Amino acid sequence: MAVTQEDIARAGVVGAGGAGFPTHVKLSGKADTVVLNAAECEPLLHKDKELILRDAPMIVEGLARAMSLVGAKEAVVGVKAKYAKVIEAMNKALRPNMRIFPLPDVYPSGDEFILVYLTLGRVIAPGAIPLSVGAVVMNVETARNVANVGTTPVVDKYVSVAGAVANPCTVCVPLGTSLAECLELAGGATISNPAYVVGGAMMGRLVPTLDAPVTKTTGGLIVLPEDHFVVQRKSWDWNKTMRVGRAACDQCSRCTELCPRYMLGHPIEPHRAMRSLGFNANREADVAGTQFCCECNLCSYSSCPEGLDPRGVNHQNKARLAAEKKRWVNPPFDPSRADLLMPYRKTPTGRLMKRIGLDGFVNHGPLSGEPYQPKEVHIALRQHIGAPCSPVVNKGDVVTRGQAIAVRPVIDGKVALGADIHASINGTVVDVSPEYVKIAAVS
Ligand code: SF4
Ligand code: SF4
Repeated sequence: MAVTQEDIARAGVVGAGGAGFPTHVKLSGKADTVVLNAAECEPLLHKDKELILRDAPMIVEGLARAMSLVGAKEAVVGVKAKYAKVIEAMNKALRPNMRIFPLPDVYPSGDEFILVYLTLGRVIAPGAIPLSVGAVVMNVETARNVANVGTTPVVDKYVSVAGAVANPCTVCVPLGTSLAECLELAGGATISNPAYVVGGAMMGRLVPTLDAPVTKTTGGLIVLPEDHFVVQRKSWDWNKTMRVGRAACDQCSRCTELCPRYMLGHPIEPHRAMRSLGFNANREADVAGTQFCCECNLCSYSSCPEGLDPRGVNHQNKARLAAEKKRWVNPPFDPSRADLLMPYRKTPTGRLMKRIGLDGFVNHGPLSGEPYQPKEVHIALRQHIGAPCSPVVNKGDVVTRGQAIAVRPVIDGKVALGADIHASINGTVVDVSPEYVKIAAVS
């Protein structure tokens, strides 16, 4: 069945593996290749591989639809070579104009820029998007959601629950289910001093409680002891990043030498950003490149021999430059650096996991049982990049699973960037606020 971009927007599809960019916008351009991002390079996360093992034909259908919309002649599935069963499942489902590209087991192979270079050999310029080199990158769960357009809008989410939990697994929950329920589905925490990371261990964020609801972009929940390296590092505030960095950075440049975006020829040099912490007349020039940092955390958690936080310095400056609308137009770009450096300086995932103390945890996450039926869901109206959706239901309304409960607002006569939002369970609306629609299940 042919679908349109508007069908995809109405079905609520956004990038399920990142910031939640609306998929219909991504599929509005023209590209010769669609790259399926099955790299899943964040340690301990497994939901994409599990989805391929179970639903490869469906994912391929979503891929085919994406190809048709952007006019692509080929699709390339980037999946780590070590996952033989995943490759086998995908190979059985692939169509003639689709192929697998076996990826090395390195971090961050799932970064869009790195993935496009590894799979297609094309280097995206700093500040550009994959479309600029004729590619569209799509996450596995997003492709599955595109395949569902016309049947089921986006109402469920797959979440890897990992770390210090009784049964590490991948759960399927209705959107708006609490993170606490996800943890229960994995048997609960096995430690007395748990801290919680939402997303991946490298790029995810610490959350103080598990009250928050699952959204369209929630990919993982990792439980770690409070004194774990990853928890400690995510607890650093700007004051600590600055104080320690100023005192201990010896300008060895290792953070830059191993930075994946630097290796692609981008003008990102974290060691220079570190210089800005001291007295430095070139401060603005030294931090200009921070706007091209993808915040993968490789420099802070792995590359820096002093255990400093160049990513934190980049983040701080990147945010400031964005707020001041200081964009580096036509930055220097040396794409030849990719072939020169990338083959020799990749960071193996196994070594990374040892370094950040994750090698002792169970590293698989099978899909767990039947879809979960919560008593109540708390559905956020902002689950994507763009404007939050406007509710179209009121307190007391009876809703059915899949019914639109919030839609993209019209701003200045134009439909705003975003994707519609749907009831994830059958029930009654018990509260509507500018942030959430709360639904209680039919008892
Ligand atoms: S690797 Fe660490 S010590 Fe070396 S330049 Fe970078 S931040 Fe400084
Ligand atoms: S977080 Fe560090 S390694 Fe990653 S892109 Fe930014 S500077 Fe480079």
